[in-house]
Amino acid sequence: MLGFLKKSTERLPLFLYNTLSKTKEEFKTISGKKVKMYTCGPTVYDYAHIGNLRAYVFADTLRRTLEYAGLSVKQVINITDVGHLAQDSDDGEDKMTNALKREGKELTIPNMKLLGESYTSLFIEDLKALNVEMPFVFPRATAHIHEQIAFISSLFQKGYAYKTSDGIYFDTAKFPSYGALGVSDGGQALPSLGQARIVANPEKHDQRDFALWKFDSSLGFEAPWGKGFPGWHIECTAMATKYLGKSFDIHTGGVDHIAIHHNNEIAQAEAVSGKRFVNYWMHGEFITIEGKRIGKSEGNAIRLYQLRERNVSPTAYRYLLLTAHYRSLLNFTWEAVLGAQTALQRAQRMFADFPAGGHIATLYRTKFGTAINDDLNIPIAIAVMWELLKDDSVTPADKRATILDFDRVFGLGFGTGSLSESSKVSVTALSDVPTEVASLVKEREEARGSKDWARADALRLSIEEQGFTVEDAPEGPIVHKTSEGFKG
Ligand code: AMP
Ligand code: ZN
Repeated sequence: MLGFLKKSTERLPLFLYNTLSKTKEEFKTISGKKVKMYTCGPTVYDYAHIGNLRAYVFADTLRRTLEYAGLSVKQVINITDVGHLAQDSDDGEDKMTNALKREGKELTIPNMKLLGESYTSLFIEDLKALNVEMPFVFPRATAHIHEQIAFISSLFQKGYAYKTSDGIYFDTAKFPSYGALGVSDGGQALPSLGQARIVANPEKHDQRDFALWKFDSSLGFEAPWGKGFPGWHIECTAMATKYLGKSFDIHTGGVDHIAIHHNNEIAQAEAVSGKRFVNYWMHGEFITIEGKRIGKSEGNAIRLYQLRERNVSPTAYRYLLLTAHYRSLLNFTWEAVLGAQTALQRAQRMFADFPAGGHIATLYRTKFGTAINDDLNIPIAIAVMWELLKDDSVTPADKRATILDFDRVFGLGFGTGSLSESSKVSVTALSDVPTEVASLVKEREEARGSKDWARADALRLSIEEQGFTVEDAPEGPIVHKTSEGFKG
């Protein structure tokens, strides 16, 4: 039985909702105190928006909950830098190719990688600003073409793959349990959440069959069956297997991954290994604005810097996310995020007055543990924190020790200095940046001063084109260099 430590010998069981069984199950690891977890990462064809970031804050709270329970977590977050078709189906344009066209770059694999790397750096900066713990590795799909080709070769050998004029396909009819996760987008599907566009392809044996490899004689990688690029699903399966093995504990993603991407992943992996691929499939719900999912195609893709421009810290956004259960839709409003910031600052101010040297309040730890172990009920855990803050029977020193303990899961930066401190990475002083960047930053400050957000946005893009980002800290703008991103 796994769970957080109540007394030295007693543990509460940890229950997690498994999309595979559609129930909350007691979590059991495959191997002792080690958890292997794969998180479907972004397709790096554009900036991440606050909707995308919800998926990674969810995975981070899951990881922190497991760590709080005394487990060590080996987490992989992939970076899809090739092969994700715009409609999640097998036809149409590839998102990365579209991005190269959008940015007026020549269509070459090196350009695609460079473009992917620049958005990957920005994505990782956003994760750090949100206090998301860094994974074991961020594997890039373009760096694992060999593994994907080997996986497809195994599928061929075992009779699960066939060739058509435009690519290699998985033969779903050969895999009778295809679709184990069901077809739902989650408990509360949104009207705007489309399934992949199914285009009848007469060469497919079954319309559910999906591309493992698409031929492309001009822009592609060499493969035994023809030049081209891998399908999005095989990328995740090949990289998950490489870093975590044929069977591992947890796979996370957004509810939009259930119907196709994850059903396809299970089929590919289990067809090759003959073993259960993943024990617990967990999916985070969407965040919406006025009832519509946040998304690039919806035209409401707010980015983290836009929160900072309105003096909302990334940590306040994290707090807002923690106030909703990961399986519930959350509607974003400026009032809600400003309210979250006010609440968090209040808790921070109270915390700052508490002296060190206390002990964890057992009763509160039990309440907290009961909440998080009930399928990550973080909203209840936040309520427990407020109850503790207001409880006069607990000494201020004990309150401090208890909140620091809870913050191992919340990740709100209690005890790490100011909130903005915890969100800084690779800070560059204004005097260290090229003069043209410095003057763009100053111009942007003026635009913000006169609340000209559109101009401030445009200036930010110009700054980013020069290889820098700007963070709006309370003490003024802080410039980050983005060209030296994390190399996984
Ligand atoms: P993508 O880069 O499009 O593959 O998306 C990356 C992640 O963001 C996926 O896990 C999606 O499920 C998630 N995602 C996209 N839009 C939203 C949203 N509005 N709310 C929550 N998660 C989202
Ligand atoms: Zn994936």
